[in-house]
Amino acid sequence: MTAHIIDGKFFAKQLREELKGKISDCHAAPQLAVIWVGDNEASAVYVSSKQKAAQEVGIACELFHFSADASEADVLTLIERLNMEREVNGIIVQLPLPKHFHERHILEAIRTDKDVDAFKQVMSGALWQNSAPWASATPQGVLKLIKTVLSDLTGKHAIVIGRSNIVGKPMAALLLNEDCTVTIAHSKTVDLPTLVQKADIVVAACGQPRLVKKEWIKPGAVVIDVGITKVDGRLVGDVDFENVKEVAAALTPVPGGVGPMTVAMLLQNTYTAYLKQKDSL
Ligand code: NAD
Repeated sequence: MTAHIIDGKFFAKQLREELKGKISDCHAAPQLAVIWVGDNEASAVYVSSKQKAAQEVGIACELFHFSADASEADVLTLIERLNMEREVNGIIVQLPLPKHFHERHILEAIRTDKDVDAFKQVMSGALWQNSAPWASATPQGVLKLIKTVLSDLTGKHAIVIGRSNIVGKPMAALLLNEDCTVTIAHSKTVDLPTLVQKADIVVAACGQPRLVKKEWIKPGAVVIDVGITKVDGRLVGDVDFENVKEVAAALTPVPGGVGPMTVAMLLQNTYTAYLKQKDSL
């Protein structure tokens, strides 16, 4: 068997086109504020791809770029201002922040209804109670990709490899909300291969290049690779793609899988925030 390769670029483009249509009917363009501190090379790429995609769908995206020696107070002052500006529907802070920043102080300062990255603690809590208005972009994008190949997730055994607050945990909550039976694995998990062998859905989000091996995969499983690590100048996922594709039913590539969906879902969250804010006026 050779796995069906889930084309994240295609589904992300489809989502952006749908959004573009909906936004063209809006009275005013939704607005997204992107705050970036420092000059991290990878962040520069992410920020510019978010700006480009926002522009493409008709979301007005303003970048606020601080130098690496900016203070927490500088950024908090800006967030307070953006929180109050009625035209601004979404605020995101590009991570990582420089070391002298306390990430939580910054993320928690964003008004909840403008937290389109859903990184605030209250948003995580709401997601675990299946009452969040939206979830973090990456896990939401992963769920969309899974649903392109599995129409009903009820009772499926899913394993999420990674327990970060921005990928692993919200991913597990989303799958639980879909009535999956969810295992969360992490760096201290004992006998990961045996756990993965039981899973119908495998989401690898641990940043360990090609960790997930063909022998670990139950034939017919759906495998989603979130990982991105630069190895010898190339982007490599957490799944041993070339071999796993021989046993999985469906598999995402890196690049071209989850990455493009992340940006598209962020735009969708911004649009949802816009609609909710408009409704509450
Ligand atoms: P993180 O470093 O915050 O968390 C990694 C997690 O993996 C931790 O919970 C850790 O316990 C677990 N882990 C590490 N080694 C492991 C091992 N050997 N076995 C099992 N678990 C192990 O990373 P993150 O922010 O959650 O991101 C994970 C990966 O996904 C990274 O490669 C990151 O670049 C990528 N990522 C991709 C996108 C995208 O849009 N495609 C978005 C976010 C993150």
